Amino acid sequence: MTRTLNPGSTIGILGSGQLGRMLALAARRMGYRVHTLAPEDDTPTGQVADRAVNAAYDDLDAIRDFARGVDVITFEFENVSATAARAAADIVPVRPDGEVLHVTQQRLREKRFLADHGFPVTPFAPVATREELTAAVARIGCPAVLKTAAFGYDGKGQARVDSPEEAGAAWEAIGEREAVLEAFVDLEGEISVIAARGLDGAFAHFGVVHNTHRNHILDVSVAPARVTEGLTTDAVRIARAILEAFDYVGVMGVEFFLARDGRLMVNELAPRPHNSGHLTVDACRTSQFEQQLRAVCGLPLGSTEYLMPAAMANLLGDLWERGEPDWAAACAIPEVKLHLYGKRTPRPGRKMGHLTALAPTPEEAVAEVLRARRALA
Ligand code: AMP
Repeated sequence: MTRTLNPGSTIGILGSGQLGRMLALAARRMGYRVHTLAPEDDTPTGQVADRAVNAAYDDLDAIRDFARGVDVITFEFENVSATAARAAADIVPVRPDGEVLHVTQQRLREKRFLADHGFPVTPFAPVATREELTAAVARIGCPAVLKTAAFGYDGKGQARVDSPEEAGAAWEAIGEREAVLEAFVDLEGEISVIAARGLDGAFAHFGVVHNTHRNHILDVSVAPARVTEGLTTDAVRIARAILEAFDYVGVMGVEFFLARDGRLMVNELAPRPHNSGHLTVDACRTSQFEQQLRAVCGLPLGSTEYLMPAAMANLLGDLWERGEPDWAAACAIPEVKLHLYGKRTPRPGRKMGHLTALAPTPEEAVAEVLRARRALA
């Protein structure tokens, strides 16, 4: 029998960004204590945690020491090594299991895992050398996208290949390293399913979220997505089967491509709460962060019911270009909630916060959240 970790227990979070911060806030509201470990000081998670440890993720002594001080460990950052996850797991439960990190922190491993389990993915070919790239381009065809096998964050480490002649330039552009060549999909849109699996195998999901990106970075999410019931059923069924294939415990973001010809393909897995699920904080009975807490503590999963349609717009560092944003102007809009992550230095492309709007329809929620973001600048 697995023990439920009751309020008063201590959650250990590896990583210290905004995902850890929002998890910590949910945990503290329910009376849990929170420790975080990351190689930085004054972090978004550390600011709201009971204890913030500054150590490298590969400092196994520090990881073991950290593990001794907590009742369960989870991640908000997936580039923790399998060795570090195992060192922690010798001392305390690690949820989700470190094995899922190993698979999802490398694009090729992740794609192979998905394809081997029969999940739909974009046609792809592994590429280790310039010669293999030529063969891959011949096999996959153009247009295609060459992506580094090690995950480039938010679209970094990617190059388009529109014709076989462009292969050499693309190979150089990604730094001549191990890669995956993927067929370029004519996209109808991008969607995600934020799903959760409990310690007892219970499953819950927040339906389908529709996402738009700008410069490869998530820009706006809206839920419920305007998609057919059949598509929702398919996406949720796939997400559920992925969580089951990993014997997963926790929240996972499953990103999908929806092709214009109707095909649904898994793009990426995020073994943690996901940016497209931030709107659940204001819109749902249980947020994705509370859901993560419940799952890793062995509590029953909460209701994922939406109280209202919602839209979320990210606030990137670019917004600070002309000085401090006009927070009062956005806060004056009654449908809108402001979330900031406590980061001191706004840099272009850096996720500093987000806005969420609730409205009677998804379209109105998008209009309101965009109006609020415009009012900031
Ligand atoms: P990724 O880092 O792989 O999620 O890619 C970042 C973004 O680039 C995606 O969210 C898409 O908007 C776009 N993209 C990546 N791969 C493809 C593809 N194979 N076909 C079409 N668009 C893509």
